[in-house]
Amino acid sequence: MMDYEAFFAEKIDALKREGRYRVFADIERQAGHFPKAVNHHRDATRPIRVWCSNDYLGMGQHPVVLTAMKEAIDRAGAGAGGTRNIAGTNHYHVLLEEELSSLHNKEAALLFNSGYMANEATLSTLGGLLPDCILFSDECNHASMIHGVRYSRAEKRVFRHNDVTHLRELLATADPDRPKIIAFESVYSMDGDIAPIGDLIELAKTYNALTYLDEVHAVGLYGPQGGGIAERDGLADEIDIIQGTLAKAFGVIGGYIAASASLVDFVRSYASGFIFTTALPPGIAAGALAAVRHLKAHDELRQHHQERAQMLKDRLAGAGIPVLPSASHIVPVMVCDARLCKQASDELLSDHGIYVQPINYPTVPRGTERLRFTPSPLHTDDMMDELVDALQHVWTRLRIEKAA
Ligand code: PLP
Repeated sequence: MMDYEAFFAEKIDALKREGRYRVFADIERQAGHFPKAVNHHRDATRPIRVWCSNDYLGMGQHPVVLTAMKEAIDRAGAGAGGTRNIAGTNHYHVLLEEELSSLHNKEAALLFNSGYMANEATLSTLGGLLPDCILFSDECNHASMIHGVRYSRAEKRVFRHNDVTHLRELLATADPDRPKIIAFESVYSMDGDIAPIGDLIELAKTYNALTYLDEVHAVGLYGPQGGGIAERDGLADEIDIIQGTLAKAFGVIGGYIAASASLVDFVRSYASGFIFTTALPPGIAAGALAAVRHLKAHDELRQHHQERAQMLKDRLAGAGIPVLPSASHIVPVMVCDARLCKQASDELLSDHGIYVQPINYPTVPRGTERLRFTPSPLHTDDMMDELVDALQHVWTRLRIEKAA
């Protein structure tokens, strides 16, 4: 007979043996003092610095966001009260969708409760209902896109990461009459590299495919208004579906797509992951709306963010720490061993008050384990000095390989 408890325990032990059992840091962020937090796991009075948050610009604590959320809670209460269809559509949702469609210069936008749900629901609906559709998916796409593709039950063809030639080969062998979707990201969150969006659009045009672009790690951060890499490169109008999150640069929670009015209406009307769930709380929508509007008007924050990221990359490289020369704000430092990566992260936290979570398989391939740093405009030069010193100390103590 099945021993359920023994099964679960053995599966957990296997993760521990491999050094990739996940331990959550129990932190409390300090509003107004980003990137400071306290670590409840150890000494709650001792401040730590967070170096791995996806609240890339600190908008999760920005006064305009907090004020908007408080006002909306006072006016509209806590929860939305229903699904979007049954009593849950609050005016804040409508305003936010209008703001997002304008951000991406699309006819319409649709909110989801997370970026994950936006990807899964949209891709599974499009792939499942477009007759005989083929989904072409970059091999490094996020789990939410992979699951969306899988749930669609459409035929799937995976192309090598950012490999336009490989995608062309796959498209060329597909039946020209079948509907097709090419799904990819702009900024890939673990290596910080960027897709050749213009080339992918060209291919999509040649083979009459829809383009689906996940800009989760780019919205708010790139483009004159924060519309993402597609806006930065003047390509947004040529992408069919732009997907984003409200949880990273915008600092709150929620996801969305922006596309033509008919495509958005189609997803709104058929996507299970949109229809059968309670709408985001109005206060959340109000906070996200304030964040989107603020970042639209503050390009200087984006410039400062890029400057900080470049500064950290330069300092790490100068100190012989093996940093990936990413083309974005993401700063991956390679350890290439699961146990060492966890140990380095533990020692940085316990001995230096620096919090950076180890990134292990399956988030990244085995042998490419890393510490992923995300400097924000609020990470100062002094904090960088502190970080580089701490890393050098830990690298020497653990005898981790230095850069050549
Ligand atoms: N897409 C990518 C590329 C991501 O890295 C993430 C990570 O969280 C998501 C989608 C999901 O977004 P959210 O956190 O809003 O659910």
